[in-house]
This record gives sequence, structure tokens and C-alpha cells, in this order.
Amino acid sequence: MSIAKNLDNIKFQLQGTSARLIAVTKTKPIADLEEAYQAGCKIFGENKVQEMVEKWEILPKDIEWHLIGHLQSNKVKYMASFVTMIHSVDSLKLLQEINKQATKNNRIIDCLLQIYIAEEETKFGLSQDEAKELLNSDEFHSMNNIRIVGVMGMATNTDDENQIRLEFRSLKTFFEELKQQTPETENFQLKEISMGMSGDFLIAAEEGATLVRVGSAIFGHR
Ligand SMILES: *Cc1c(COP(=O)(O)O)cnc(C)c1O
Repeated sequence: MSIAKNLDNIKFQLQGTSARLIAVTKTKPIADLEEAYQAGCKIFGENKVQEMVEKWEILPKDIEWHLIGHLQSNKVKYMASFVTMIHSVDSLKLLQEINKQATKNNRIIDCLLQIYIAEEETKFGLSQDEAKELLNSDEFHSMNNIRIVGVMGMATNTDDENQIRLEFRSLKTFFEELKQQTPETENFQLKEISMGMSGDFLIAAEEGATLVRVGSAIFGHR
């Protein structure tokens, strides 16, 4: 199947849900991204900063770039001028660096807190308590050039659809809880829930995802 057909197929499946599609383009050549762009896809997700910068330089400037993978503080400066959203904020220190680089670029960068929902120990992220602690800190309240707009999570890599569904549901529940308990401010305006990948994006959309991150179902296996 072609990239355009795969995109059509996924968009068809997402009809009637609130989920927008992020095409995850990591490791894929520019020609594939151009094909997706021609088919109307203008939101791309990458998990490495250098690769994202290289592709951003070449491709049209109306593309939204989302950084979805684990991020080291020392890489933030390379993308701070153009990145649309950072999905993988997992520490106060990283958020401070994003705020600093966004300030230098005179802009506000939208961020998601990556929340640990999977059973596996290896996944990056914050526990729900750690996320609340971060949001209650004085350091966070003093940041003017980032905006926390939601949460991101990755389900356990399992065939057990029920487990995946319950993990997504727990992220949605946490999102609702945060929204109710924490007043909106300039730098805290929750609206996005980023969850679901090629194998589970439909379950995620059913459970309230607003952004799904789909790679191999569009571009083939990496
Ligand atoms: C690679 C990746 C995806 C997409 O994975 P697929 O299974 O290819 O759809 C989604 N989210 C993150 C964080 C990723 O690194």
C-alpha cells in the first residue's frame, strides 16, 4: 500500500473521534515525508533532534514538528526556534532548559508531560505524583516561555488489548484530575492527550486521545 492510501485508511478509522494524526517519520527518507505532505499530512513527529532539524531545513515551512522521543537538555537549543510541541518532558530540569531556549527565541513552546502508564520499567516518564510536584513548584510557576498543554503516555508493549485500554484510560483519568484540581494559568492550559501508536491508535482514540502518533502503519516497518 502507498503512503497516501495508508493515510486515507487511518484517517477513515479516526473519523468521529477527537484524535489528530501525527505521522511519525523517524528513520524515513525525505521522499517519504514529501509523499505524506502531498497527501495532506502536515504534522510530523520525530524522536531525535538532529534528524528533525535536518528534515525541517529541507521541507516546506508550514509543517508542524513534534518531538516525541526522549530529549536531552543539551539538544533543546537546536530546535527551539521551530518545534511546535515537545511530548516528552520528564523533568523540571528539562522544562527549565526548554523555557530558557524558548525565551532566547522570543517564543512560547507547547509541552506535554510524559506520564508513566506502562507496566515495563524501561519507559521514560514521570509518575503522577512527580508530575503534580513539578506543576506545584515555584520554578514552574516562574516560567513564562513554555506552556504545558497536556500529557503523553505509552502503553505496555503487549497483545492484551484490555490492558492497553486500561492504561490509556488511566492517562485520561489523570488528565481530567489535573484539569479539575489545577487552575489554568498562562503556562498551564490542558487540552491534549497524546497516546496511541500503530498497533493501538484506535484504542487510544476511543479512550480520548487528541493526538495519536503513528509511524509504521503509514510508512512501513523501520
Ligand atoms: C516511534 C514512535 C511512535 C510510532 O511508532 P509506530 O509503532 O511506528 O507507530 C510513537 N511514539 C513514539 C514516542 C515513538 O518513538
